[in-house]
Amino acid sequence: MRVQDGVYWYRERGPFDANTYVIKDELTLLIDPGLRDYLKLRIEEMANDGVTKVDIIMVTHLHPDHYDAIAALKEAYNARVALHSSQLEYLDVMIEEASRLFNMPHRLDFEVDMEIEDVLRLGERELRIIHTPGHSPASICFYSPTDKFLIAGDLVFEHGVGRTDLPFGNKEALRASIRRISLLETELLLPGHGRVIKGRTDIKRNYEFIKEFYM
Ligand SMILES: [Zn+2]
Ligand SMILES: [Zn+2]
Repeated sequence: MRVQDGVYWYRERGPFDANTYVIKDELTLLIDPGLRDYLKLRIEEMANDGVTKVDIIMVTHLHPDHYDAIAALKEAYNARVALHSSQLEYLDVMIEEASRLFNMPHRLDFEVDMEIEDVLRLGERELRIIHTPGHSPASICFYSPTDKFLIAGDLVFEHGVGRTDLPFGNKEALRASIRRISLLETELLLPGHGRVIKGRTDIKRNYEFIKEFYM
């Protein structure tokens, strides 16, 4: 569904799935394809919203609930996969850990076409890529300084924060990342799981809740 002009949210479909976001401009960016089992459904939902092409695929971090459908999605749209430099650094080790932890057959089944550091231009829109380690060492957030939306992955949720007990998780790093990200002027908070949060006041209230219970 459309949540802002050119910004679409596809809600997670079950456990081990994640929210998918699409940013439409001259280039269409899809963030977090989710689980492969739900890809067909997602492609239908997107088509209903008029999202008929995907040029670039990225992930907020390398956990299988977020990246599992990359290869199939890449093939479906003939899209390019872009990873952040921290994600490239941890790619092999994260995929290896995933197969161990989640008991799913995981191997690197997609090619990486681009490395992105801190800015991604899609046309009119420019997204800032912010490295936010903690939940995983290669977690990133996507922030639009013009439209004031933040795609947060598993850093913050409605009334919650990402777990830090998975391999390479780090509670102190998570807290530092949240502190940094909470300073960004945000009108629309788009987390990796659960509901999106709209409006500056509700987003601020959510950070206050998180600071009280998790920091
Ligand atoms: Zn995760
Ligand atoms: Zn997740």
